[in-house]
Amino acid sequence: MKSTLKEEAIVLDLIGVGVGPFNLSMASLIEPIKSIQSIFFESKSRFDWHAGLLMEDCTLQVPFMADLVTMVDPTSPFSYLNYLHQKGRLYQFYFYENFQIPRLDYNLYCRWVSEQLSNVQFNYHVISIAQKNDLFYVTVKDSLTGEFVHYIAHNIVLGVGSIPSWPEVANECRNVLGCVHSAEYLYEKSNLIDKKSITVIGSGQSAAEIFLDLLNEQDKRNYELNWLTRSEGFFPMEHSKLGLEHFSPEYIDYFHNLPEDQRDKIRSRQNLWYKGISVATIADIYDRIYKRSITGGESSIVLQSLSELNRIQHIDNKFKLTFQHIDQRDYFQFESECVILATGYKYPIPQCIEALKPLIQFDSSGRIIINRDYTIELNNSLKGKLFVQHAEMHSHGIGAPDLGLGAYRSAVIINSIAGEEYYTVRKKNVYQNFGVPENWLVKNGEALTIKNSGRQSLIS
Ligand SMILES: Cc1cc2nc3c(=O)[nH]c(=O)nc-3n(C[C@H](O)[C@H](O)[C@H](O)COP(=O)(O)OP(=O)(O)OC[C@H]3O[C@@H](n4cnc5c(N)ncnc54)[C@H](O)[C@@H]3O)c2cc1C
Repeated sequence: MKSTLKEEAIVLDLIGVGVGPFNLSMASLIEPIKSIQSIFFESKSRFDWHAGLLMEDCTLQVPFMADLVTMVDPTSPFSYLNYLHQKGRLYQFYFYENFQIPRLDYNLYCRWVSEQLSNVQFNYHVISIAQKNDLFYVTVKDSLTGEFVHYIAHNIVLGVGSIPSWPEVANECRNVLGCVHSAEYLYEKSNLIDKKSITVIGSGQSAAEIFLDLLNEQDKRNYELNWLTRSEGFFPMEHSKLGLEHFSPEYIDYFHNLPEDQRDKIRSRQNLWYKGISVATIADIYDRIYKRSITGGESSIVLQSLSELNRIQHIDNKFKLTFQHIDQRDYFQFESECVILATGYKYPIPQCIEALKPLIQFDSSGRIIINRDYTIELNNSLKGKLFVQHAEMHSHGIGAPDLGLGAYRSAVIINSIAGEEYYTVRKKNVYQNFGVPENWLVKNGEALTIKNSGRQSLIS
């Protein structure tokens, strides 16, 4: 496509890069503030949320209040309840009596919001962000015309999400038909279910949802279905009420204040807080297999944990999979006509900020340093601020990808840009303490000797 270059740059208070749920939340909450001029650019032609995994039966893993605005401003016209009201579906939702809404509906709700916002533009890909004096120079490509447009922005908020993580051991099958990442599942499904054997790898929510979907299809088809994971089992996500309090502003405060090595240690113990499978999906899977087993139909299903994928090769139109059993240390192999890698997502530094890299501060493990207010730490005194959404799990904890904290994070960022508390950010949201309460703290210098069965320890 032929590209033209417009020389004049438009000046804005804020440019948002990407329009997934998190930047759409920002766009919805910032639009009513007329003194802040913003545009959010999205490469896609319309709002579309993980379309390759939008199966009919899948629900959000968080209550519907985790919409784009409610946790910060329940009076916003962009709430899920107002969407239902406008669509004439409020009574049906009332009788539905379910907090966990279908993901398909969440996607349509977000699209409905995006269509009403004047500060969201689809079909625009942000190519590069560079420093210009003490602000940002942003180049955007209009994918319909091929034209490049330039902007000067006082602030940037990156909301580019994550990308599918493809395991290195499957590299030789990267572009081979029949070996797909879970993010592509629905696009490939009709080809996959025509095969004689299907193998799903991974044990997160996506793996479980795909396995369940294939289990339901299996009645009408004739394939073997394998599900393997290196995890110790097919375990549920932590979902107790006091456990859920870790997805709160207070926990972010606590976590962010800890030293980097301590934060890493904590995160390594927290996999099942956000990576496991919902109890409801596990129950659905079990019940489905149980019913099948009444007539002996479970023989075409394999579930196996503690099995680490070692290699995938494509030989004679089949995939040869090699695994190692983690406890027994034995290797084993089998063939499958197709493979679905539900191996999660990763967060590389977005290409569009390549020119800013020399300014960015990194921690000892090479991760971007992100301040409590979601600004990226830059090593010069730029007037503009570079914010980031959903890339801060290493510094802000397990709540980073959680939709329930999206509106809160948007509010913190908006308040920082507005220079005032435009949205009230409440300090007290949970019942438990995460750190030592101030009034119980043994102050520096007040050394305390504890005598305990002959052992002495010193707290200072
Ligand atoms: C299948 C699935 C289900 C999930 N369900 C839940 C759930 O129920 N509850 C929960 O709390 N969390 C859930 N999550 C986790 C999380 O909330 C989602 O990953 C969510 O989509 C993150 O939103 P985001 O805005 O960061 O990124 P994304 O949704 O990935 O959106 C980023 C957008 O940025 C655009 N973009 C990227 N680069 C550019 C550029 N240079 N220029 C312009 N546009 C660009 C992309 O096209 C994309 O549309 C789920 C995740 C997955 C994968």
